[in-house]
Amino acid sequence: LRVTFSPIHRRDEGIAGTIAVLQDVTEQEKLEQSRREFVANVSHELRTPLTTIRSYAEALEDGALEERQLAARFIGVIRNETERMIRLVTDLLHLSRLDSQQAQLRRQKMNISDMLDEVADRFSFQLRQKAIRVSVRVEEGVPDVWLDRDQIDQVLDNLMSNAIKYTLDGGRIELSAYRRDASTIAISVRDTGIGIPKKDLNHIFDRFYRVDKARSRNMGGTGLGLSIAREIVKAHGGTITLESELNVGTTVTFTLPVPHEGSEPA
Ligand code: ADP
Repeated sequence: LRVTFSPIHRRDEGIAGTIAVLQDVTEQEKLEQSRREFVANVSHELRTPLTTIRSYAEALEDGALEERQLAARFIGVIRNETERMIRLVTDLLHLSRLDSQQAQLRRQKMNISDMLDEVADRFSFQLRQKAIRVSVRVEEGVPDVWLDRDQIDQVLDNLMSNAIKYTLDGGRIELSAYRRDASTIAISVRDTGIGIPKKDLNHIFDRFYRVDKARSRNMGGTGLGLSIAREIVKAHGGTITLESELNVGTTVTFTLPVPHEGSEPA
């Protein structure tokens, strides 16, 4: 609700009264504003690597090219920045497909335990590099679930790569699944990482929101991982939540509906 006050002026008497206008700030207007913010963010996120690329290319042109080692380092930076932009554009395309609901879910029946084991395997190299121990725990009786495998893998990959990024060497990550009630299962990724300050928790699923911009950038993050995860989970009819304690760790949990016995989703 927006309230505007306008004074009523009379010729000789100064202000004779006030008109208060109560206006409902429509959903439309809010959407428009978040769209504007989004475009501004995207522009900024693309501009940063482009500016870096330009200055390193200029330095090469101005003579760095003659020094083999320096040239190799500068080209490495240009490559990294290019990779970052590719990741960003890929994430943006994915989000926009999810937004326009073009991303039809291709559901198949999946065994949750196999899926979680495979995520742990996909990341085994990175886990070993940081000496992070991983465990997978699936409660007995968790049923197979109809889901879009590629999309849910993307959710798990985003959560897992965050857990690794924000956990110090020697930490632990636990992937688990359990039945929450008759119609839902929950899957969670828990880490013993750096955690998130309380004041940031409300914004953590916003597009481009990062607790520490520099750290996220250094780690190659786009600030879109959690937003994409949320959209995918939503498309499956589930919800996603994050709990965290600074310097203790973070747990992200998402739910998926399971069909009642004997019925299968369309
Ligand atoms: P990014 O690409 O920056 O990782 P995300 O959308 O995946 O973007 O996450 C948003 C922000 O949330 C991150 O920048 C980081 O500050 C915080 N975050 C996400 N997951 C974790 C985690 N497991 N531990 C600590 N902080 C996290």
